[in-house]
Amino acid sequence: MKALLVCEYREGQLLDTTYELMTFADQLGADKVAVLIGDDKAVPRMDGKVYLAEAASCGEYNPVVHKQVVLAAIEKENPDYIILSHSSYGWDLAPRLAAALKIGQVSEIVGIAEGGFEVGCCNAKMRRSVSPTGSQAVLTVQAGAFPSADPQGAPAIERIDVSADTQGVTFKGYEPAEEKEVDLARAEVIVSAGRGIGKKDNVPVIAELAKAIGGELGASRPVVDAGWVDHGRQVGTTGQTVAPKLYVACGISGAIQHLAGMKKSDFVVAINKDKDAPIGEVADVLVVADVMQFVPALTDALQK
Ligand SMILES: Cc1cc2nc3c(=O)[nH]c(=O)nc-3n(C[C@H](O)[C@H](O)[C@H](O)COP(=O)(O)OP(=O)(O)OC[C@H]3O[C@@H](n4cnc5c(N)ncnc54)[C@H](O)[C@@H]3O)c2cc1C
Repeated sequence: MKALLVCEYREGQLLDTTYELMTFADQLGADKVAVLIGDDKAVPRMDGKVYLAEAASCGEYNPVVHKQVVLAAIEKENPDYIILSHSSYGWDLAPRLAAALKIGQVSEIVGIAEGGFEVGCCNAKMRRSVSPTGSQAVLTVQAGAFPSADPQGAPAIERIDVSADTQGVTFKGYEPAEEKEVDLARAEVIVSAGRGIGKKDNVPVIAELAKAIGGELGASRPVVDAGWVDHGRQVGTTGQTVAPKLYVACGISGAIQHLAGMKKSDFVVAINKDKDAPIGEVADVLVVADVMQFVPALTDALQK
């Protein structure tokens, strides 16, 4: 089995998610080749081959040209799977590839199942298995679902030149995100509130613990969607990616989209009344308790 990994490159750098795609391909037992539209400095560490097209001529992102480059690599390798990250780049490029090749696509993969792939459903509350029926398929993989590989090899590089016919599509650049009230990415301690805190009136209880240990308040998406906490404090794939020394998850189940934003934390403490909550799989300490009983008692003890 062979997998073609489509690397992602932004503002002159290879994105780390490329190494998550490598782990995914390794778990499939696939031989790996990669394609990068970037530059020589951004070529990923790996054994095997990397097809390289220059971002200087192809554009850092231009869906029409990037599709041509990836199709050229597919023609040379005839891979079983064409694998991209489930990022805005992957969302845009993957269906273009699947349509051009007239093959199926499996999106937002979070696991490998018997004969297929696990993808989230019901707002990521459940998982279902999807098996492509054809011999070739395009796959997009959820960020954070697979750990990063750490290969040390230096690949052989084969250059791809495509006619940069943009068919009128131009890349205008990136828009800076809204100014954040707080930069959680720099915080050393974060205490995050999840839906398990029950109601908006309980947010100050979590904020008080954050203050007591010199940290910042974070939140899961439902808490932000409900308007209990500003979006600038959301942790996860559609919020901020954080890497504090200490992350305290209060009433957070540990959905993959949340874990993707905080899995690089050095030490994770989770408070959850469910001893089997998935957050327990990444927590260094899981406190099985009612968060609204435990947190005020902990804050009180710390303040003393
Ligand atoms: C495209 C997409 C993007 C997403 N992006 C993000 C994102 O960026 N960030 C994010 O967080 N989510 C994101 N989500 C949502 C994600 O899938 C989960 O739905 C969300 O993370 C769940 O939040 P939660 O853990 O707070 O709530 P729940 O999953 O409802 O978990 C609540 C937890 O609290 C526990 N609990 C309940 N009562 C108590 C109590 N009294 N004491 C202690 N524990 C209690 C429960 O046991 C449960 O484990 C995204 C989803 C999609 C589809």
